[in-house]
Amino acid sequence: MIDLKSKKPIIISGPCSAETLEQTLATAKALADSGRVDVFRAGIWKPRTKPGMFEGNGEQALPWLVEVKRTTGLAVATEVANAKHVEAALKYGVDLLWIGARTTSNPFSVQEVAEAIGGADVTVLVKNPMNADVELWNGAVERLAKCGVKKLGLIHRGFSGYGSSNYRNTPMWHMPLEIMKRLPELPIFCDPSHICGNRTGLQEVSQQAADLNFNGLMLESHIAPDTAWSDAKQQVTPQRLIELLDSVVWRAEGSDSVAYQTSLDELRGVIDRLDNEILKLLSKRMEAAENIGRIKRENNVMILQQNRWNQIVERTLARADELGLSPQFLKIILEAIHIESIDRQRL
Ligand code: PEP
Ligand code: MN
Repeated sequence: MIDLKSKKPIIISGPCSAETLEQTLATAKALADSGRVDVFRAGIWKPRTKPGMFEGNGEQALPWLVEVKRTTGLAVATEVANAKHVEAALKYGVDLLWIGARTTSNPFSVQEVAEAIGGADVTVLVKNPMNADVELWNGAVERLAKCGVKKLGLIHRGFSGYGSSNYRNTPMWHMPLEIMKRLPELPIFCDPSHICGNRTGLQEVSQQAADLNFNGLMLESHIAPDTAWSDAKQQVTPQRLIELLDSVVWRAEGSDSVAYQTSLDELRGVIDRLDNEILKLLSKRMEAAENIGRIKRENNVMILQQNRWNQIVERTLARADELGLSPQFLKIILEAIHIESIDRQRL
């Protein structure tokens, strides 16, 4: 099995599900021939949202992965969700196991999987849980490490949300950034396929991952995506996958160029000075909020004045264009200020 930190980017690709021996081998061959893929993925046990959907071929498809390995030389990966899956996958020499988002959400399942893997020589990647809970994600990694799993890594596949969005699962990039900070030694992959749920967003999300120092990508690819038995909308042909990979730029982590270092230091100086001013202004703003809180209290007036706040938000958002700031960003900033302001008025 390839060391996941030995080069960058590492590409894990293959169909959402291993549907038939032919589909599995044809997809694997096209991906291997491209020379761009390091690990072949295919789901054997599929966690589906509703019953009656294709739930994977189960153990009978494991020999297909063995055949992929024999004919292409690619390392092979599949998802495991319980001890039986682990035993079967290990029996067939699967190189890399991943724990799916639904499983990571359940500590009982993670514990069962961790105990079944134990000290086996296999790489295990942990997808983030469905819900945006970094502790749960971190906890799953800890359970595996405690049971003796040595080669560990992470997969960011986005978080489920409510309502319509361009994403199937919202990326919430601050979540992978937080887990990178906590577990800096673990390789982390981005799974744009499950974040997007469609083909159009894959390039942008892949580029974002490259820019945020991910170690590589897990992307679903299928020899005939439109006919796929699961996740048809988000899968791409091996050829399209290569075009997609060609379009993603993986930049260096730093540069020795003196000119670059000088300009960078200068610009960082500007940022540090501006941050300092912003913080001083915020401090003054909160002092003003405390004074308002005091006179409201003296006059027996309630803290929340919804109309006044609506006016501030409206006035500020109307200036978004002129300020060159996105309304979404301004909203987040204003909300944070408002929450703190209300808190300070209670003093
Ligand atoms: C998958 O990789 O096909 C899969 C089911 O992933 P997730 O657990 O991220 O939904
Ligand atoms: Mn899938």
